[in-house]
Amino acid sequence: MSKPIYVTQPYLPPLEEFIPYLEKIWENKILTNGGPFHQQLEQALCEHLGVEYISLFTNGTIALVTALQSLRITGEVITTPYSFVATSHSLLWNGIKPVFVDIDPNTLNLDPAKIEAAITPQTTAIMPVHCYGHPCDVEAIQKIADNYNLKVIYDAAHAFGVEDENGSVLNHGDLSVLSFHATKVFNTFEGGAIVCPDAKTKVRIDQLKNFGHVGEVTVVAPGINGKMCEFNAALGLLQLKYIDQALELRKKIDVAYRERLAGVKGIHCLSDSGQTIANYSYFPIMVEPGYPISRDDLYQKLKDHGIHPRRYFYPLISDFPMYRGLPSSHRENLPVAAVAAQQVLCLPIYPALEMSVIDEITRFIAAQ
Ligand SMILES: *Cc1c(COP(=O)(O)O)cnc(C)c1O
Repeated sequence: MSKPIYVTQPYLPPLEEFIPYLEKIWENKILTNGGPFHQQLEQALCEHLGVEYISLFTNGTIALVTALQSLRITGEVITTPYSFVATSHSLLWNGIKPVFVDIDPNTLNLDPAKIEAAITPQTTAIMPVHCYGHPCDVEAIQKIADNYNLKVIYDAAHAFGVEDENGSVLNHGDLSVLSFHATKVFNTFEGGAIVCPDAKTKVRIDQLKNFGHVGEVTVVAPGINGKMCEFNAALGLLQLKYIDQALELRKKIDVAYRERLAGVKGIHCLSDSGQTIANYSYFPIMVEPGYPISRDDLYQKLKDHGIHPRRYFYPLISDFPMYRGLPSSHRENLPVAAVAAQQVLCLPIYPALEMSVIDEITRFIAAQ
């Protein structure tokens, strides 16, 4: 390729359309602390996503840490090893012990059939991930949570705008956490949010992201500074105008990859998991034993050719030094996740990706 192709390219609205937002900030001189753009974006996102309450954050990781705090989660939390490391890090930041449970081979999401065996008297919650924006088996997870009186916090960093037959997938569980990082489908450069079902929970989350302050002289909790500032909120308002267009373009790319890779032996395109509205946030393929070369060889060859896919998710979280000593990190406990981490490759997908590049990538993969 003449210029390198990366797995994603951040989506940016026309620069001149951002200027009026900046002028407003300079005029108001309100830079943060729940200013007008912050309020407008919370409102606009509730409408766009079809959720009741949302609290904006400086990033998704602080939102995860705060979500756990807001429900006073302690002890052990059941989670997936097949995710970005921030999922489990949010547990460690709260002094919580992660308990890894294996994933479903079809969806690569937490396997509900394996959750019960991992529950102990210390278990207080389940933290699943809607990996690649493919919904978890939310009903099976909720059933287990109800039986054992556990909370459910979804890491929904990949699931912006995803819907199932009941509407937004963000309405499942006790809380859902979004990331608006530059690499995500909807970005505010850095940013995140917690989706919650009631006003009381939102009040507590809003307090926790503002040092635990209630009014001028009262502090009710050892909160953090997790507030989204006006600059990022303004960006979000502008990005929202272009999100439908961006998703249309992503969908075309998803369709094109599937068509072109359909006949390639040993390459399996991960299918969706029953969502009625998808967000095409990633394009994961599995490089199976029937393919002529290994996943890592294909990865390297593509890179040498100027195409930079990513091995999301490899290594497994449970293999990082701060996790690998945990009993649940043992390979025998996580066989499906171990195979997925060895086979997966996420191909470039972003609105500006040209069809000619997709042709080039798929021809290259087919020619090995
Ligand atoms: C991006 C991501 C996060 C972290 O979000 P940030 O906004 O980058 O802090 C957490 N979990 C998953 C699954 C992610 O992909």
